[in-house]
Amino acid sequence: MAGEILGGVRKAYASKGDDSTFTRFVKLERPEGKKRHQRRQPKLPGFEAPYIIEGRTKFPKSVKTVAEVTNLLVSGHSNVKIGRDVRKGKLRGYWIYTLSLEERKTCPLTCEHWQSCYGNNMPYAKRVDFTDPTLLTALEAELEKLIGTHGRKGILVRLHALGDFYSPAYVGFWRRMLVKHPRLAIYGYTARRRSSPDGIGRAIDLLNNDFGERCMIRWSSGGLKTMSTVNIGEESSKPADAFICPEQTGKTKGCGTCGLCWGTSKNVAFLEH
Ligand code: SF4
Repeated sequence: MAGEILGGVRKAYASKGDDSTFTRFVKLERPEGKKRHQRRQPKLPGFEAPYIIEGRTKFPKSVKTVAEVTNLLVSGHSNVKIGRDVRKGKLRGYWIYTLSLEERKTCPLTCEHWQSCYGNNMPYAKRVDFTDPTLLTALEAELEKLIGTHGRKGILVRLHALGDFYSPAYVGFWRRMLVKHPRLAIYGYTARRRSSPDGIGRAIDLLNNDFGERCMIRWSSGGLKTMSTVNIGEESSKPADAFICPEQTGKTKGCGTCGLCWGTSKNVAFLEH
């Protein structure tokens, strides 16, 4: 079994035996005996940074309008934990893309990581401005182009690398896309709740129900028997009804070589770091 992931990366080189077609980077392994570092605890109430009180990203300059970016969907090839394409299971041959929206601004206040969001450590990630009125039209056009690209069996979109579903109408956009494009699939995690009064959770639930394995949006720390995520401090804390994300334990390279998040409704446990 490969060693645990230290968190660092280096560029992938085919000459070093790396599969550079899967990701542009490869992970550095955790040296024997070195412990995972734990996610920093949230600060005490009353000591929050202004961006947390305001409900924005820590890096407002990274929020870009549609006109400011060359593409809205980012290839999984650039993400060492995801990978360029799916290499096993029913979606084998699908190319993976991620979409990032502004964290906190699109997320529910009830998110357990409101303060400790991993976006706090991602100064260079591009977040798309969800208030841009041209966003959904541009996203639709980009999906159309990617799905039509020769040699791709389909497209799998990871929602959301940062941010969350921000309105029932936005969930409706993905419904329309799934109807329009039979070779489109989506997966990801949401901090919304199924019964949230804003109707967003209900809309996501219906989407999951209506599209099956083509739409696998799990409830973050949802506490349900299936389709939830659970955070654990160490492998021995894994609940019986969950599996540990094998990317985190070095058993697979990334989502593209795993496929469990869209292949099974069983809960997934993530090691906190
Ligand atoms: S369980 Fe598999 S598909 Fe899910 S996040 Fe981990 S590597 Fe990706």
